[in-house]
Amino acid sequence: MANRNKTMKVGFIGLGRMGSGMAGRLLQAGHEVTVYNRTPDKLKPLIMLGAKPAAKVSEACRGDAVITMLADDEAVESVVFGEGGILKSLRRDAIHVSMSTISVTLSEKLTAAHERAGQRFVSATVFGRPDMAAAGKLFIITAGAQDVLGTCEPLFEAMVHKTFHMGDEPKAANLVKLSCNFLIASALESLGEAMALISKGGIDRHSYLAILTSTLFTGPAFANYGALIAERKFEPAGFAAKLGEKDIRLALAAAQNLRVPMPVASLLHDRFLTLLARGGENLDWSAIGGLAASDAGLEDLPKAA
Ligand code: NAP
Repeated sequence: MANRNKTMKVGFIGLGRMGSGMAGRLLQAGHEVTVYNRTPDKLKPLIMLGAKPAAKVSEACRGDAVITMLADDEAVESVVFGEGGILKSLRRDAIHVSMSTISVTLSEKLTAAHERAGQRFVSATVFGRPDMAAAGKLFIITAGAQDVLGTCEPLFEAMVHKTFHMGDEPKAANLVKLSCNFLIASALESLGEAMALISKGGIDRHSYLAILTSTLFTGPAFANYGALIAERKFEPAGFAAKLGEKDIRLALAAAQNLRVPMPVASLLHDRFLTLLARGGENLDWSAIGGLAASDAGLEDLPKAA
């Protein structure tokens, strides 16, 4: 059921590259937002925009809903199941909206735990980079009970360009998100190999990319990431390589559980491990597209700060 034009009292946990922009959009839309972050320094810009600070997770759980936008499963587990965590602090019937890219298994565990506690749980996974988060131009994939998602619509409207609904089981949104990041990573690796090939053959990468993006490979994944790989501009990270490795690992875990062989995903996971082993964990994940050039004896990867 739609719930348009209603402002809500909401907690926001996780003010990283994505979360800070998303929480900012909620404030701009007039929602009453209480923000929590493990590293409290990141609260300051949002307090300037009118957010209420929370010193503890529990203080961000006093409203109609709490949103989590955290790095990984470990972070979400600690914030939900830890002492004074969301599960113990959220009132009955209040909503946990999980927007982080987490495993299908954790999504199932959260669904069951919130149900036992009489709380509501939905997944709303996110497509887009930090600049799109700050501009309210994200795409989100939602899954969970329709009435709960309807209640959350004013929150989503503040943050997104378009929403896609994947059914009543929250884990569906997590599986879709992981599969899409597998596809992007495939494009990053393939672009990197193709560009290493033409570069070593003496062809300019930018002219080559212009051909790709105006003929058969016109989508944003090719245009935007292709430009980063052609420039070898892997800093600052919009999406850190260590989180890219996490997503391929979680896609492979889902594939294992569903008995779906994904040989390309296994290869990509090794490419991410190579990148991390070479000190690239804080580079943008598009840096896996720089490995092929380095393997070919062309430019080395930049050293991450
Ligand atoms: P990020 O900049 O690394 O921020 C991660 C957030 O998680 C920070 O608030 C961090 O707190 C917190 N955190 C990490 N470990 C924690 C722990 N053990 N306990 C409590 N808090 C913890 O990551 P991001 O790029 O915003 O991404 C957030 C989520 O969105 C990830 O699941 C990512 O896969 C997904 N995502 C990212 C993008 C993108 O382009 N960046 C796009 C779509 C989806 P501190 O500040 O204290 O470190």
